[in-house]
Amino acid sequence: MFSKLIGNEAAVRLLTGEIAGGRLAPSYLFTGLSGIGKRSLGLAFAQAILCGDRPSAGAPGEACPPTFCGEACGRCPACQGVAAGSFPDLIAVSSESPGGPIRIEQVRLLANGMRLTPHTGAWKVGLVEEAEGLTEEAANACLKLIEEPPEKSVLIVTSSASYRLAATLLSRCQRIRCWPQGIGRVAQFLEKQEGLSSEAARGLAIGSGGRVGLALRWHREDGLARKNLLLDELLAALRRGALETPLGKAPRLEIEEALDGIAAWWRDLLLLRLGADRSWIIHQDRLDDLEREAKRLGPSIESWMDRVERAYRARSAVQANASPRMALALVLAR
Ligand SMILES: [Zn+2]
Repeated sequence: MFSKLIGNEAAVRLLTGEIAGGRLAPSYLFTGLSGIGKRSLGLAFAQAILCGDRPSAGAPGEACPPTFCGEACGRCPACQGVAAGSFPDLIAVSSESPGGPIRIEQVRLLANGMRLTPHTGAWKVGLVEEAEGLTEEAANACLKLIEEPPEKSVLIVTSSASYRLAATLLSRCQRIRCWPQGIGRVAQFLEKQEGLSSEAARGLAIGSGGRVGLALRWHREDGLARKNLLLDELLAALRRGALETPLGKAPRLEIEEALDGIAAWWRDLLLLRLGADRSWIIHQDRLDDLEREAKRLGPSIESWMDRVERAYRARSAVQANASPRMALALVLAR
């Protein structure tokens, strides 16, 4: 449900307005960094479209009563099925491994499913997660579905790297941008929803850069330990000047996160060196290590600013499909 999400209020207002006003577009593209809540927003949208208690469900184009807010009821079989990931009128496809490809067979199943009569209610919703993973053939099939949408269907496409999508796909979907949230707000959400201590919640909120989904994933999968492992591997490889690292075998998403982590590490060092308040530090869980290293920093601040920038450039290169080796070469470049 939209009411269970935090942030992205403008997007929620727009989407609920379209449902309430009976003005649903055939396809939507949700863009923004990974772990920012695109999937949750997409599922809340799907729930609101498919909800059995929606007053005008089954009457496309007919406006809902003025009291209807475009939100799902959260109680009917459709709402519960969508939340449980088992509602037949919502067909979702994603890569089978993080950062892996989405194959043509998956998109064919999605397209065929969306053309069938709905099991309940009147609508079908398709969800393609992280569409930059679509193979060329799969992307063409997806585009065909967007260009010839089945009746009473909505396709929701999400992407963390929309610049890798075909211009035709971009131009035919209604675009919804998702943004990171303020640190205080994310921390408060984590404290309330996950029962975390204020210190742990703030550490995750800062470390994730205000990306709620990423913070939740780190918390639920002990991702902070994994993040630190990759960060240490990357730091060790950089100290050796080596281009080969075990990181090369990690999924693309993890490599991106490790490069983000490196950029944040150098930024943290620079801030500590400049005497900034400790509350500004992103790697709160590594404060002792950072302070030790900051004492050994050379005098040239410019070279550290340059390092931060190179790490972000390397991350963009990995997003655009560069190999981890090439990304490390960018980080090491002088
Ligand atoms: Zn409902």
